[in-house]
Amino acid sequence: MSSLLLNELIDALRCLPGVGAKTAQRMAFHVLERDRVGAKKLSERLAAAVERIGNCTRCRTFSEDAICSTCASPQRDASLLCVVETPVDQLAVEQATGYRGRYFVLLGRLSPLDGMGPKELGIDLLAARLAENEVRELIIATNPTVEGEATAHLLSQIARATGVRATRLAHGVPLGGELEFIDRGTLAHAFGGRLLIEN
Ligand SMILES: [Zn+2]
Repeated sequence: MSSLLLNELIDALRCLPGVGAKTAQRMAFHVLERDRVGAKKLSERLAAAVERIGNCTRCRTFSEDAICSTCASPQRDASLLCVVETPVDQLAVEQATGYRGRYFVLLGRLSPLDGMGPKELGIDLLAARLAENEVRELIIATNPTVEGEATAHLLSQIARATGVRATRLAHGVPLGGELEFIDRGTLAHAFGGRLLIEN
């Protein structure tokens, strides 16, 4: 049995994380045999999400609107700005802590070899934001990896240049750990006990 469309479907499914050739094959056969309605819905949702979800022009997180709901909300404390690497990290902080400030999402981390420099991380946008004089504390919540630490260093320099106090998540976040995989209690503790960065 051979079908060009089937092979193309199996190939396309492999763009999902953790899905290899075998799993992609199983998924493709599954939907064709048992769940064509679910598959149709999935394809429509995927197309709509990819087409309509862009990035907030202010904080760069995923958003269907030019300004995301967190940036637009008057309930959020504009004097606190938490910098995270990814929208998933933002979600982790949001779910684990009682944080009520705003965010800035780098959409990556400093990694010159992968072409991720200050420009790609939106550092200009962040610096302009700090220059508005509304932010009083820049909470650096990059991951405690080598690249995350290098990113944190860059962020603290920008904070210093704009005269904004910078803090870093405290002990409890294991070295090399990613925020999204840290349990909520640990992340909440690290967030609550953040430390002032001495410049
Ligand atoms: Zn936003």
